[in-house]
Amino acid sequence: MRIISSLLFLALTGFASAQDHSHRLPRALKFPDIPGYKTLKCDFHQHSVFSDGSVWPDIRVMEALMDGLDAISLTEHLEYQPHKQDIPHPDRNRSYELAKQEAKNHDLLIVRGSEITRKMPPGHNNAIFIQDANAMLVDDSVGVFKAAKDQGAFIFWNHPNWTSQRKDGIATLTDMHKYLIREGLLHGIEVVNDHTYSDEALQIALDNNLTIMGTSDIHKLIDWEYKVPQGGHRPITLVLAKDRSIESIKEALMQRRSIAYFKDMLIGRPEHLNPLVQASLVITKAAYGGGTSVLKVTLENRSSTPFILRNTGSYTLHTLGDVFNVPAAGSFDIEVKTVEKLSEIRLNFEVLNAVTAPGKHPNLEWSYKIPTGK
Ligand code: ZN
Repeated sequence: MRIISSLLFLALTGFASAQDHSHRLPRALKFPDIPGYKTLKCDFHQHSVFSDGSVWPDIRVMEALMDGLDAISLTEHLEYQPHKQDIPHPDRNRSYELAKQEAKNHDLLIVRGSEITRKMPPGHNNAIFIQDANAMLVDDSVGVFKAAKDQGAFIFWNHPNWTSQRKDGIATLTDMHKYLIREGLLHGIEVVNDHTYSDEALQIALDNNLTIMGTSDIHKLIDWEYKVPQGGHRPITLVLAKDRSIESIKEALMQRRSIAYFKDMLIGRPEHLNPLVQASLVITKAAYGGGTSVLKVTLENRSSTPFILRNTGSYTLHTLGDVFNVPAAGSFDIEVKTVEKLSEIRLNFEVLNAVTAPGKHPNLEWSYKIPTGK
């Protein structure tokens, strides 16, 4: 009987969620806004059967909704069409249109994009916010970038560390890439692609004023590829936008306001990353316990990523060593031995899973006024 009623309950709740046609799940990624900007979760490099992916475009929309994303782009290869015999389609915009149709009744922004697929150099590059993918079927390798720019595209270099095009996996700027950057034909670079991360690409972004990008480059299923049921997540780009619109996302990317999120690590410029970490990790309570000078401090993690902190302040901790993990989305207590009873606590942590430059982690300060007890 109990089994039957819980089956019935499951059937009913399943029915209810089918009715409201929402794909949002507790697994949805969460990052707080920062002062002045909305933190939008975006994945601008994905494939469907309209190039070399394994799924119909509507599946990409549903996956994005389950992950709580704000915007996606299906960037089909312009030049590489392995399913052409089975799925003939003369229109390179078709994938975008099908995704847009699926997203019609949902809160997800669909950005039109294409992947320019060439030998090195220039390798693979995504052009997003384009108007017409068909107009990008241009033979000349530089000409295709110009065609994208004419459409107002934001263009980024994909997987510069890809071992099929760079045997040593070291992202290296070629003369052609330098030319594209100089001419305003290349605006961003993937520091994160699929399962890979590149310190060298991060350095290239910093040295050349390029936008830091992180993407899934998904071809199969997000859940299988990134083991989402086991707690994994797809790589995304957090875009710091003035509002939640396609125009604002483009403006933010052009102004380099982005952070890549990859395997529970955040990668970005300090002016973007530091406020995000401080908005994510907040002291919500601090009190001395039991006539001691040991201060119990409650941290609240308002994001989906756990934080790995190293205590760099002047106090030692009572129940933890100098490096510890703050779990995602929830409260976490630390006990600080302040020796004297303080009216305000200042804690300093190096955030080991936040990266502002190769080998560099921000050292941030949290402060909190301690309510005076009797
Ligand atoms: Zn791709």
